[in-house]
Amino acid sequence: MYDVWKNALAEIEQQISAANFSTWFQDTSLISTADGNIIIGVKNSFYVKQLRNRYLDIIKIALKNNNITVNQIDFEVKTNTKPKTEPHEVINTRDTIKEHIKTIRNINSSTIANGLNQKYTLDNFIVGSNNDLAVSAAKSIIAAPGTRYNPFFLYGGPGLGKTHLVQAIGNELLKNNPNFKIFYTPISHFYSDFIDAIQNGKGREFNRKFEKLDCLIIDDFQFIVNKEKSQEEFFNIFNDLYQLNKQIIVTSDRLPSQIKTVDERLATRLTWAGAFDLQLPKFEDKCAILKAKAELMGAEIEPEAIEYIAENINTNIRDLEGELSTILLMSDVRGMTPLELIKNGSVSVNKSSKIRPTSPKQIVEKVAKYYGLTTKELCGKSRVTNIKSARQVAMYLLSKELNLSTNKIASEVGVKDHTTVMHGIKKITNDLKINFTLRDQIEEIKEKIYG
Ligand code: ADP
Ligand code: MG
Repeated sequence: MYDVWKNALAEIEQQISAANFSTWFQDTSLISTADGNIIIGVKNSFYVKQLRNRYLDIIKIALKNNNITVNQIDFEVKTNTKPKTEPHEVINTRDTIKEHIKTIRNINSSTIANGLNQKYTLDNFIVGSNNDLAVSAAKSIIAAPGTRYNPFFLYGGPGLGKTHLVQAIGNELLKNNPNFKIFYTPISHFYSDFIDAIQNGKGREFNRKFEKLDCLIIDDFQFIVNKEKSQEEFFNIFNDLYQLNKQIIVTSDRLPSQIKTVDERLATRLTWAGAFDLQLPKFEDKCAILKAKAELMGAEIEPEAIEYIAENINTNIRDLEGELSTILLMSDVRGMTPLELIKNGSVSVNKSSKIRPTSPKQIVEKVAKYYGLTTKELCGKSRVTNIKSARQVAMYLLSKELNLSTNKIASEVGVKDHTTVMHGIKKITNDLKINFTLRDQIEEIKEKIYG
């Protein structure tokens, strides 16, 4: 195994720059090749993203050249220093990686009991037009828990800061009153612990653990779908705590009424005190976040470089952070400033660097099939609503997944005019903001494309 990987690495080294090779491949290992399912060991989750986005094909070819069958490549983080509750740590520059891991270790020892991770504070949560209402509600909760904003319901898409903000509330509450009993848990842990408790005949004890709390924080509530018994248990705990004026905080990627199989009474109660959302940051917000993050890392970055990243990342704050870290790390390795790297094309912060292996044909086929149409129907002239919207979904995915030009998309889906494509993509982009069924459908289609 060791020799195979050594040979593959030697081949990879020939194909990429020395700096990139030492940055991304130095601490990798080959864990398994069984049945063509390749598992590569890496230092931390940051490397997974980079290797997957940039080097998957190179790795595949190098392994094949060494007579290894490759069906699928997965990465495994070979460290146990990650905090249980947060898989998305940010790695700063190379010099600070060791520091970072040390901090995570320290934090880890103090997170087990209450689920809080001290790295999330209100101080390092940047306030902008995308989150100011939620932050001001958070501040009133910190000042007077269990009163006005109870329960506090916070929702928004992935990577927009839900976990950060609710963890920060928990940390601040604890700072103000060290005796405060707080418990943070993702709903998935809540129900797996609940099932364990029931199986071991400890259902009552499980419930009692929650009764004593001053503040309960439940993250990613949307995963309660189809977990009826756990939902019932949560509803009971919710009512008990609420009656005692204990603070309840719940996050979700959507409103309770938009989560399938959520009890209507529970859905209403969760938003009794209002629902606060976190939105995508606007250009100015993105710049402010990047600037603050760079400062926190003690890294130098030119305003133009910040603007360049802000203009090109339109997904979420997690991705903003990821790109910033990549650029700072590269800047450190190469001894060039971030702007120099951008100008000479060493880093390309754009959608194309995230392209995953698929083809236009495959996207069109999968979309058609998903909506029960033939490719011919989807690419035909019909203006029947369901066919038209399936066609628009195909346009949207061709643009987002393959970064094709609107002219190219027009020819793929059989429309004459590229403005029809522009309109179609815009329509789906807008619908996605409010239509959660569509969001789910597009996720399912993507799974079918890549799965
Ligand atoms: P979510 O739980 O909504 O998926 P997270 O809370 O995990 O998102 O946020 C993703 C990343 O972005 C985290 O590293 C978090 O610290 C960072 N982040 C999000 N919003 C902000 C903000 N307003 N200021 C600073 N960092 C933020
Ligand atoms: Mg989260």
